[in-house]
Amino acid sequence: MTKQILIIGGGVGGTIVANILARRLHHNEAEITLIDSTGKHAYMPNWLYMPFNQVELDSDLILRDERGLLNKQVHLVHGDVVRIDTQNKELTIRHGKPVHSSTTETNEAIHTYDYLVIATGSRIVPSDLPGLSENTDKWNHFYSAEGALALRSSLEQFNGGRLVIAVGGIPYRCPPAPLEFTFLVEEWLTKRGLRDRTEIQYLFPLSRVFTIESVAEVVTPMLEERHILYSTFFNTSGIDGEKKIISSEEGEEVPYDLLVMIPPHRGAKVIELSGLGDEQGWLPTDRHTLEVKGQKNVFALGDATDLPVSKSGSAAHFEAKVLAERLVAALHDEEPHNGNAEYDGEVMCFLETGYNKATQLVFNYEHPPRPPRPSLYYHMEKQLFNRAYWFIVPQGLV
Ligand SMILES: Cc1cc2nc3c(=O)[nH]c(=O)nc-3n(C[C@H](O)[C@H](O)[C@H](O)COP(=O)(O)OP(=O)(O)OC[C@H]3O[C@@H](n4cnc5c(N)ncnc54)[C@H](O)[C@@H]3O)c2cc1C
Repeated sequence: MTKQILIIGGGVGGTIVANILARRLHHNEAEITLIDSTGKHAYMPNWLYMPFNQVELDSDLILRDERGLLNKQVHLVHGDVVRIDTQNKELTIRHGKPVHSSTTETNEAIHTYDYLVIATGSRIVPSDLPGLSENTDKWNHFYSAEGALALRSSLEQFNGGRLVIAVGGIPYRCPPAPLEFTFLVEEWLTKRGLRDRTEIQYLFPLSRVFTIESVAEVVTPMLEERHILYSTFFNTSGIDGEKKIISSEEGEEVPYDLLVMIPPHRGAKVIELSGLGDEQGWLPTDRHTLEVKGQKNVFALGDATDLPVSKSGSAAHFEAKVLAERLVAALHDEEPHNGNAEYDGEVMCFLETGYNKATQLVFNYEHPPRPPRPSLYYHMEKQLFNRAYWFIVPQGLV
């Protein structure tokens, strides 16, 4: 009998899984349905460049229709999953265009599954920090396309003073991004003749400037060379937007003229509402098989999980191959057997260091990254990848 595979989330992880499954499974074996709240696919790495006027809001480098990225065999439902019921193996979808479902009066549809893949990503929750509301007129960020555009205006109006970049909580998406922004903004200020009039300070919650020690060791001297101040053990306790002060639980108060904040992150609301996640809404996930712990035939990948790896598109990408392999094997009643059968924590990403240079971070659960000397080569590779992404990654071709 044809099995129903439901995938929640049309970001990096969900899209790759759907496309690999569509290629590997015969349509008599499985019907693959992907549900996404937006019907769009966002490529967040390019948000980093928006504050510096290098990518536009309407650019197709940052947002495309999900349908155009999916194999024709994948059904796409544009709707919000509002409840996941793993006991009865069903999802409640609001405002969705129903496919194989029983519609109810409240414009909600119930979809049942044999296998469920949760790829709902993460969300920023500024209100988790006192003083940091959704309204960004007292602070800035680049963790949404609109936020990055507003930050561009703030930078255009900035005429020197204290520029503070702060990480508001761990984990957050793309660990290198705040450091990349710091290096890029230092270059931007220098080129505009504002560097001499600006003090840049980077605030980070841990005992070093980056989550991974081997990277912190490479990056710290670079901050020092560029006269960028940094404070570690700075766990933000709140912001006073009127006085323009950011405070830490450790008792420090840092004044600013322009604050660029990485807001606290949580898992998707539906995970919380369905009682499936931990206190931050991350799904307890087996680090090798990607099964959601305590659930049958439920898998998770990407930012939605509690895995001890970077919340990154790269991790979601490597995990998607493993997850698809395991699902194909399960449908064929076989043991997963090729090299993709277990996730080993693999991540590969770049870290822009400014002035057309970048380094590369390659690591897994066992081996920390050994970043090479920053060079034009890695910067160009990142630029190329940020364009090639749309043609090779969501399709699961690499
Ligand atoms: C500024 C910035 C720069 C970054 N740079 C890099 C980089 O250089 N390299 C890198 O590897 N990563 C980078 N990342 C991180 C990367 O973008 C994310 O880690 C990645 O997108 C996670 O993929 P995902 O599939 O888990 O989730 P997402 O891509 O976030 O997709 C989740 C999807 O689920 C959908 N969804 C959520 N809830 C529901 C629901 N209830 N019902 C239906 N649909 C739902 C959403 O609409 C969304 O489409 C960056 C992130 C940011 C913010």
